[in-house]
Amino acid sequence: MSASPHRVVIVGGGAGGLELATRLGDTLGKRGLAQVTLVEKARTHFWKPHLHEIAAGTVDLHTHAVDYLAQSHWHGFRYRVGEMTGLDRTRREVQVAPYVDPEEGEQVTGARIFGYDTLVIAVGSLNNDFGTPGVQEHAMLLETPAQAERFHRRLVNACVRAHAQSAPLRPEQLQVAIIGAGATGVELAAELHHTTRTLVSYGLDRIDPERDIRINVIEAGPHILAALPQRMSMSAQHQLEKLHVRVRTNARVTEVTDSGVKLASGETIPAELVVWAAGVKAPEFLSKLDTLETNRIHQLVVSSTLQTTRDENVFAIGDCAAAPWLGREGTLVPPRAQAAHQQASHLARQIARRLRGQPLQPWRYRDFGSLVSLGTYTTVGNLMGQLVGGNFWIEGLFARWMYQSLYKMHEVALHGYWKTALGSASRFIARRTVPRVKLH
Ligand SMILES: Cc1cc2nc3c(=O)[nH]c(=O)nc-3n(C[C@H](O)[C@H](O)[C@H](O)COP(=O)(O)OP(=O)(O)OC[C@H]3O[C@@H](n4cnc5c(N)ncnc54)[C@H](O)[C@@H]3O)c2cc1C
Repeated sequence: MSASPHRVVIVGGGAGGLELATRLGDTLGKRGLAQVTLVEKARTHFWKPHLHEIAAGTVDLHTHAVDYLAQSHWHGFRYRVGEMTGLDRTRREVQVAPYVDPEEGEQVTGARIFGYDTLVIAVGSLNNDFGTPGVQEHAMLLETPAQAERFHRRLVNACVRAHAQSAPLRPEQLQVAIIGAGATGVELAAELHHTTRTLVSYGLDRIDPERDIRINVIEAGPHILAALPQRMSMSAQHQLEKLHVRVRTNARVTEVTDSGVKLASGETIPAELVVWAAGVKAPEFLSKLDTLETNRIHQLVVSSTLQTTRDENVFAIGDCAAAPWLGREGTLVPPRAQAAHQQASHLARQIARRLRGQPLQPWRYRDFGSLVSLGTYTTVGNLMGQLVGGNFWIEGLFARWMYQSLYKMHEVALHGYWKTALGSASRFIARRTVPRVKLH
């Protein structure tokens, strides 16, 4: 090891990157064994699987957001705000664009360069609109907390407007079209059902939810939750239909307009609010990163040690990595928080080994199953692997508890057990003093 500490740069402080920065800061940074730097384009961290709950107003962003600067101070790493745009592998430098405050429009920093000895890219993924016309102009995305909050605001505005108007409702008014019936689309539909009923119950009583509000879930494939076991798909569809959510399968969207969605069949579905929740791709700039290998959806191709195929000093984890699923030949690990969490824990140990000059060990994904939350109504899913010694179908309260435990694991990785318990208790108490959904 050189006289100056080994420089670990992590780009992207999401489900995987922030856990890794925290762990490395605690174990190596605080002891001066490495200098750990997190480069992240946002100022606060929010766990992405809860974004649909921000959109529905059932989770408050500000009670769950983690301030990167405070986290770095407490856990022995450096936080540098900014968006990575390029890489020089020969000089081992990450290029970061000037940081412009998204609200004020003020340029806060100039362009910067960060040198590294070990680089970990963990920039997550985006929705894939497959070039469908009108998506960028008329559909809302749920990729960031700001987008989720904006959706919520528009939902509340739509209900207040409908309640205040004397004219009859237009056909698209209070109709929501959710495009894509993966976990995000399905969970969002159930949350919105609950939210709209709650909003009305708080006094917007000129709206009759059963008559006036319609939630459509539109899926191009033959089943909802196509990536998950068929029993989950059938159970979730049954639950949604019980809530009068209209589930349309084999329905490919060809255009999004200002008044709804056009399908390949020629049919139009009117909607005031359209959410695009289909497809996954990694950010496009990864395909131009100094000849690193990427796949069709811009993910960085990595080996079982999570090192990129063309540079052993550059690692990738989380949704932006195309990682082989050991034991399932030819299959990639799915883009899930569960995988990002496991990769972060593994890489924290491997970077310590790298510093000691020991060979790296391969990472093996352990699939603990899948769970889909249908809001306050129910949770369905399966548990599998070493956790329960088989493949178990679960539903209801126990499934809900298991679903929540994934977030608790993330919180424990960031804050430890004691602070996580305190935070959970304080949120439990605070929830008794505020409305069940956010009303503004
Ligand atoms: C609504 C929704 C619900 C979901 N539900 C579930 C679920 O129930 N279970 C599950 O397992 N998974 C779920 N997922 C998927 C899960 O959120 C992701 O798999 C997980 O967040 C991936 O973690 P990550 O660290 O790779 O990326 P992210 O958590 O997306 O973090 C990426 C970070 O990189 C930052 N970043 C991006 N580009 C740059 C750049 N150029 N420079 C600097 N910083 C950058 C971003 O600001 C972000 O902080 C859901 C996703 C969504 C959107």
